[in-house]
Amino acid sequence: MPETNVAIIIVAAGSSTRFGTDKLGVLLCGRSVLERAVAALRKPFPDAPLVLVVRGDQVEQVRARWEELAIRVTAGGERRQDSVRNGFAALDAADDTIVVIHDGARPFVPPDDVMRVVAAAAEGGAALLVTPVVDTVKRLRPDGTVETTVPRDRLARALTPQAFRAGLLRSAWEAAGDTFWTDEAALVERQGGAVVAVYGDSRNVKVTHPDDLAFVAGIFPRRTRVGQGFDVHAFAAGRPLWLCGIRFPGEMGLAGHSDADAPLHAVTDAILGACGCGDIGEHFPPSEERWRDAPSELFVRHAIALASQRGWCLAGCDLTLLAEAPRIAPHRAAMRARLAELLGLASDDVNVKATTCEGMGFVGRREGLAALAVVTLEPA
Ligand code: MG
Repeated sequence: MPETNVAIIIVAAGSSTRFGTDKLGVLLCGRSVLERAVAALRKPFPDAPLVLVVRGDQVEQVRARWEELAIRVTAGGERRQDSVRNGFAALDAADDTIVVIHDGARPFVPPDDVMRVVAAAAEGGAALLVTPVVDTVKRLRPDGTVETTVPRDRLARALTPQAFRAGLLRSAWEAAGDTFWTDEAALVERQGGAVVAVYGDSRNVKVTHPDDLAFVAGIFPRRTRVGQGFDVHAFAAGRPLWLCGIRFPGEMGLAGHSDADAPLHAVTDAILGACGCGDIGEHFPPSEERWRDAPSELFVRHAIALASQRGWCLAGCDLTLLAEAPRIAPHRAAMRARLAELLGLASDDVNVKATTCEGMGFVGRREGLAALAVVTLEPA
């Protein structure tokens, strides 16, 4: 529909009283309900002007973050219908523009549904998304008993987005004066205007009660990446021993170009592996003089930055050291705390274990030590 001018209003000025907390800020796989609602409308119309209507006391707090994304922020009113009008005023839309109104508490609507409701409004002036009512519907008496079963063949549940020609909305508002309507489709239909019902995806639910979150969370499944790392260094006289960024005074150190902190090298490789960024040797070649005796924390930080650029953050790390000496147990708590700090994780999300190799192999012969790491990443 390249010939249709579209403008978008996202209404997020409710008080979440039925939810108990700020439902729009709840994260669904790394992005808030509101961010997902905005993204869902932007996807099919990336260049359309978009106004976000929030509570008056939140405007200053959120404006900078949204305006960075070229989204205008304006204050809502007392009722939803007032908030929509405030958003509309901020758009300054020409009469033939199709204005798309969407609830900020609906994080999921497929782009195709948005496009079909806009196409229907471009043709008929007003349209809304609906889904069929699949349950049998009962009308109840005030005492809670059933009065009657309501035929459902012509019933539908109203969703958003709803879309209207701007000129039609203007005249509907003018005619309605200060009456009340539950949504703009109701406003238009009450005045005898035709509103086209467009069947959409039934997963387009409004997050109203905490229970709704379990349902929508299933639409945005959690993604996890796992990476493994392995490193070995030989013992070398005359060098300090560093393990997990902790100095082991009086113990024989490890040979290596950097500080030879094998567990941190294994952690670095695990992070690089999980985000698909190669290995430590690629990023920090031992041929480069500037990494001589470098603290290995640098390598870990670099790997975290690469993961972050690709949209991932650390979720957990499990580390195993294979060594006959030194004794790890007295230092294990310090190593775990240092590793957690370095990875930006709670101590519970990090584990440090150690084992000997029962005298077998190069570890058993005390020629060196080995480290194995597993990390998990989640979308940032
Ligand atoms: Mg190494």
